[in-house]
Amino acid sequence: MSTAEQQVEIEVRNPADGSVTGRVPDESSASVAATVRELRLFQPEWEAIGPDKRAEWLFRLQDWLIDNSDELTDVVQSETGKTRYDAEIEVPAAVNLIKYWARNAAKFLLDEHPAPHSPLGRTKRLVKTYRPHPVVGIITPWNFPLLNVCFDALPALMAGAAVLVKPSEVTPLSAVALARGWAEIGAPPIFAVSTGRGDTGRAVVEAVDYVQFTGSTKTGKAIAAACGATLTPYSLELGGKDPAIVLADADIERAAAGIAYGGLFNSGQVCISIERVYVEAPVYDEFVTSLTEQVRKLRQGHDGRGFAFDIGAMATEAQRDIVARHVEQAVAAGARITTGGKATGVGTFFEPTVLVDVDHSMACISEETFGPTIPVLKVADEDEAVRLANDSVYGLSATVWTRDRKRGERVARRLEAGAVNVNDAFANLFSFALPMGGWKDSGIGARWGGAAGIRKYCRQQAITVPRVPAMKRELMWYPASRGRLRVVAGLMRALDGRGRRKLPKFLGGKR
Ligand code: NAD
Repeated sequence: MSTAEQQVEIEVRNPADGSVTGRVPDESSASVAATVRELRLFQPEWEAIGPDKRAEWLFRLQDWLIDNSDELTDVVQSETGKTRYDAEIEVPAAVNLIKYWARNAAKFLLDEHPAPHSPLGRTKRLVKTYRPHPVVGIITPWNFPLLNVCFDALPALMAGAAVLVKPSEVTPLSAVALARGWAEIGAPPIFAVSTGRGDTGRAVVEAVDYVQFTGSTKTGKAIAAACGATLTPYSLELGGKDPAIVLADADIERAAAGIAYGGLFNSGQVCISIERVYVEAPVYDEFVTSLTEQVRKLRQGHDGRGFAFDIGAMATEAQRDIVARHVEQAVAAGARITTGGKATGVGTFFEPTVLVDVDHSMACISEETFGPTIPVLKVADEDEAVRLANDSVYGLSATVWTRDRKRGERVARRLEAGAVNVNDAFANLFSFALPMGGWKDSGIGARWGGAAGIRKYCRQQAITVPRVPAMKRELMWYPASRGRLRVVAGLMRALDGRGRRKLPKFLGGKR
């Protein structure tokens, strides 16, 4: 292969052992633009067939996903180094999403006929209709290579949009496999994948009509600026630093188990993973002991189809190095490790780690770690826990642990986060009727949330249609006439004004 050819390819590696698992093109902006032109050609027909026919295609894709789930999970593992346990959830979650959107889209996209706001408007039939943005660009990160694509592509497709996905350069193979599936079922060519790095992502932002981005806050802000220049609408799902609050009346064993899972699932590489824990003083020691014991028992490794491990590799060496830096800095500043604490030296694995004696001056509390670490802080009471939990640039989600469910909900309402789960982690992620969106630096807009989750990919169109036979002219049409204006203005005043101001002057009105 010549040097020039090498430059336009990206090598994909399994971070668990460094082996090369695939290659994809590093696409140019011209290639992206050509793909978008092609999608534009076929999108009107996709929109025209309506939600029921689109649902049929999505159910065929669902069949394909189920039929190929073992192979797809192999692909996910091969580019992420995940355990089988972490990887095998991606296909069933996509299957679940397809049913939700395919079943509900027609209802969510129905035209609406709002009542006119004034009796003067009764001469018109008002129609509010949802028309898709023709081409939606979806740019994804590397933590759930198949699911991140499905999260947003499925509602966009059901809305009637054509979709172009730009997967992470670290994990493009799952998205490519999904596009192969779309072609294999013989579906219309309105779903495509362009592989490449940041420049390919930039080209997608330039070429599409709506951008759905999931990734870091830094890239999200760059995309928002680019979209601002072209007035392209966008939605951003960005980073997080999710707090957990453990109140003194919590079931400590459950809280520790839930926080271990919520902090370490997918090696902590989940935007909504628990990244800091505030524990009320009376139960602090018991909680730290329970959490440490549970985390210490976790098995770490690379298991193929074996289901032998709980914790897999980090997706990249760079990500592992961030985790190492956060732990080392914290320890240098006085934090203590109760279990874990270092890279294993094999692949990109980093031991599941619990840190105590940490504070808000440390990077492990103020920056997103996106790794298998759980820093724990002791707090005096609920008020201090809430104050510290809210002391972050991020506001993605949070958890509250208490036996008093009313108190849990009350504390939830005090938190500056787009979602709060009481006595559980990730529950909101699998509640498609709820919006999943970040506050503050964690994003703009939201995915899902019932009808809003599909309407976000649409433009609202207002249509007025006469209800009565047309006169030759409407009252306000030219030529200008004082008399006709007085009639119209008088009617408006009579309908909308208050008291004597409703009446014209000659009837004693005041104005
Ligand atoms: P990243 O921002 O580095 O990259 C994300 C994607 O953007 C990649 O496909 C990349 O190629 C592309 N990209 C990079 N520069 C671009 C540009 N200028 N224009 C257009 N596209 C560009 O993020 P990452 O490291 O892949 O993912 C980790 C981050 O994603 C974490 O911060 C995590 O919290 C966040 N995340 C958020 C959610 C959520 O739903 N809120 C979900 C998963 C991950």
